[in-house]
Amino acid sequence: MTPFLFVTDLHGNRWKYERTLALAREIGSWLVVNGGDISPHSSRYEDQERFYREFLDPHFARYQEAGIRYLTITGNDDLAAFDGALDEVCAKYPLVENLSQRMTTAGGYSFVGMNRVTDYPFRLKDRARRDSAEYAFGPQFGSAVLSAAEGFREVADWPSFAGTLPTLGEELATLPVPPDPSRAVYILHGPPSGLGLDVVRGGAVVGSPATRAFLERVRPRLALHGHIHESPDESGKWLGNIGETVCIQPGQSPDGLTVVIGRLEGMTFERKVLPET
Ligand SMILES: [Zn+2]
Repeated sequence: MTPFLFVTDLHGNRWKYERTLALAREIGSWLVVNGGDISPHSSRYEDQERFYREFLDPHFARYQEAGIRYLTITGNDDLAAFDGALDEVCAKYPLVENLSQRMTTAGGYSFVGMNRVTDYPFRLKDRARRDSAEYAFGPQFGSAVLSAAEGFREVADWPSFAGTLPTLGEELATLPVPPDPSRAVYILHGPPSGLGLDVVRGGAVVGSPATRAFLERVRPRLALHGHIHESPDESGKWLGNIGETVCIQPGQSPDGLTVVIGRLEGMTFERKVLPET
């Protein structure tokens, strides 16, 4: 089987999308996995929907044409208000899927995705959850907001509101269950705790104990993560193991396209940072 590519946290960077497709063609990849935070970080509310319809739609058409499977999830920076727009775009292309909270089969493997993350200081809370029922909220950068069709909606008391939502562990427990964990790949935007895949600038660790416990229990073949762009630079780690499960969080470099070239049969993985040319 030819290699697959894993990229994450592209944040609407068009040349990184183009370079990923070019690389997939160059090396004959059968699959590209995108780990979320796919759209531009923007002050204008409707920019993300425009990005889906004006850039990703024709971009995905090129994957369809090339016969390359494309599996994506959304992330915490992709507004939930536009999940429907992304689904509409993906639905046009049989090879392209939004796997957030969903499962599919590709190349004889089950792929399961989730865009929820453990709470953080940032204001946009569409995907944020308490990690577990005992979760202690950290300091916040401002009032919490949720996206909705008509714009951002402020949440007056975020900890109370979050208490009404399922925890991250509960969200993980409700994901579709793959028939054979040894042939299952999870795409979970936030990394697990304890592997050095979750280190923010300055050295604090923010990974999810609930995700770690979930992977310990389910024991999938592979777990692909993103979310903490700088973690590999901080910890020197982009790959770790939980039992037999390989966990990968390659980060995303500001100086180039960070990409992992992987093979599922041999379980070999190579991380590259490709400069903008
Ligand atoms: Zn993220």
